Amino acid sequence: MIRLGGIGPQLSSRLAAEGVETVLDLLLRIPARWEDRTEIARIGDLVPDGRPALLRGRVGKVRVRRRGRRGRGVVQAELADGDATIGVVWFNQTWIADRLKGRPEVFVYGPVRRDPRSEAPQLVNPEVEAADGGEEREGIIPVYRKIGPIGGRRLRKLMAQAIRALEHVEDPLPADLLAARGLPDLRTALQRLHRPPAPTAPAGRASWIDALNCGITPEHSRLAFEELLGLAGNVLRLRETRRFRRAPAFPDSGDPCRRLDLPFELTAAQRRVLDEILGDLARPFPMARLLEGDVGTGKTVVAALAAVHVLDGGGQVAMMAPTELLAEQHMATLTKLFAGSRWQPHLLTGSAPAAARRQVIRELADGTAGLVVGTHALIQAAVGFDRLGLVIIDEQHRFGVAQRQALLEKGAAPHLLVMTATPIPRSLALTVYGDLDLSILDELPPGRRPVRTVIRAPEQAPSVFEYMGREVAGGARGYVVFPLIEASDAIGAEALEDNLPKLRRLLPGVEIGMLHGRMGREEREQVYAAFQRGEIQVLAATTVIEVGVDVPQASMMVIASPERFGLSQLHQLRGRIGRGGRQSWCVLLAGGRLSARARRRLEIFQATRDGFKLAEADLELRGPGERTGLRQWGADGLLFADIFRDRELLEAAKRTVAELAARGLLRDTLDRLILKGGSTPSPAGANA
Ligand code: ADP
Ligand code: MG
Repeated sequence: MIRLGGIGPQLSSRLAAEGVETVLDLLLRIPARWEDRTEIARIGDLVPDGRPALLRGRVGKVRVRRRGRRGRGVVQAELADGDATIGVVWFNQTWIADRLKGRPEVFVYGPVRRDPRSEAPQLVNPEVEAADGGEEREGIIPVYRKIGPIGGRRLRKLMAQAIRALEHVEDPLPADLLAARGLPDLRTALQRLHRPPAPTAPAGRASWIDALNCGITPEHSRLAFEELLGLAGNVLRLRETRRFRRAPAFPDSGDPCRRLDLPFELTAAQRRVLDEILGDLARPFPMARLLEGDVGTGKTVVAALAAVHVLDGGGQVAMMAPTELLAEQHMATLTKLFAGSRWQPHLLTGSAPAAARRQVIRELADGTAGLVVGTHALIQAAVGFDRLGLVIIDEQHRFGVAQRQALLEKGAAPHLLVMTATPIPRSLALTVYGDLDLSILDELPPGRRPVRTVIRAPEQAPSVFEYMGREVAGGARGYVVFPLIEASDAIGAEALEDNLPKLRRLLPGVEIGMLHGRMGREEREQVYAAFQRGEIQVLAATTVIEVGVDVPQASMMVIASPERFGLSQLHQLRGRIGRGGRQSWCVLLAGGRLSARARRRLEIFQATRDGFKLAEADLELRGPGERTGLRQWGADGLLFADIFRDRELLEAAKRTVAELAARGLLRDTLDRLILKGGSTPSPAGANA
């Protein structure tokens, strides 16, 4: 329960529902951005450049046009200072009209744009405050993300109260350690983030605000440093623990390729990586290996070969995938590969019928089942193994470290193989995955033709789909990808369900199926199987197809609202085509209202096929203050740190961890940390 004047039981339980139970929890929700409201602008000087301005003026006539309920409609007003007037407009907040009543003089703060009709400057959706004494109207103002239903000025007041109440916090980090890096203690950092002191010189203020908004102040660094210390500390701890464990050894027992029905020869890269894995498995220490390979380099078959080696050596194998669709896919692939062997894969997912699930769980426990493929369902408490020898985690970046660990703990000390298609620069991999050895698949199977990528305007959709229609008539298959299932007010992006009728019109005579994350398993499996067989020729889908979907006949992909996706994500999507002998096409249907930066990103995507280069470009093109997050690399749970932005801090954290370990203080310090960065499990899974 949070105890603060003005927070009653109702508000406090709402906050608790959002994970805010103490004053400190509340203050750790630091502002999303900071705005300069130090100087009042003169209306006559305003330029409609979209930047926000603070004005003080008298409200002239107010017009309200309501449209439906819940504040929908438009409010228009005029605001005058000494010498000029400006139009002000609010969309869908008709209650503003009441707030303006009886307040002849107000402060407003909002972006100055050009009125599309009169071409004159206009203030759009500004915040309003009476000019008779609100204490927060000037200075650097923090802007917060909503916490549940609480936001705006109300949250700001709450935070101001909390920061006054924050008298004593025990800083988990030793003072000398912080001082050595020029970092403030926790309490000071929070105080200064919530109530930033405003330098009086405008230039100093501007650069301070920039630093705040990019997250590079010493105050930010203090928070980030604690998280990175946790991350680096956990990596070191995992590595140490494993060093002293003994694992079952699976010595060389002949080429595993001969024991599966492989429809092709391994590439040289696959062979090399397989040998690295077999070498690890032969030793009595648990393997911990990251297999990194771009989309389509053939990671699955390598995993299957490692699996058959362990199975024949008497161990059990568990393979975990982040989505049900992918688990089902692996199940189908493994069933074919293992058809001529003694082994048969079993599937365990949340949506499997309860009876089937119980049976698999029983057979894993008594050891009759050797090989299981599944989702997070594998880490539920009921699942246990008789002699788990190898854990394989596909698309590792979708899982948290804790989930990986949970599956490992189902065995005594099983070997671990994690696979990812998300490229991560090697130096970073060593830090984030410092507890893993790295194998790289850097070769595509032969006979692939590079996918050609083009950008087309939405008006060209008819000719694009006409082409798709012809391709399909010639035996090909296609994907149409949308960022959303249903249209959303908040995001102006194309949605799957709204576009289906249009697609049907544009693709007459073509069987179109739909695939997204809200469908049940049976329906999904049916659609997918029909697509594989060619009964469905075009699959309209969300990003559920991003991982693992493998239909070699698919040679065309149209992506709607492509600017909504990150470059790496687009790359994953594009990796679904170009898997057969046919020339494949990826068409980005991009709207005309793209920003220059968005257009540039798409052009880079068009010109670049290398996943590593795209990941780097993605980073370079980030806007200031935009976080990459670790999410992409599987060590998420970091709220303040960004491994790219805070590279140097991360190095410092690694050194500190080594020092602490040498002084025998590591465990204690880690246990005391308040910000548990990389150790938090992530609720991974499909939400598309
Ligand atoms: P990813 O690395 O993206 O997980 P997959 O394992 O799904 O890639 O493999 C992509 C496709 O390439 C599959 O259809 C697979 O059967 C095929 N493939 C894998 N290895 C080879 C190979 N050595 N020669 C030919 N095709 C291969
Ligand atoms: Mg894969």
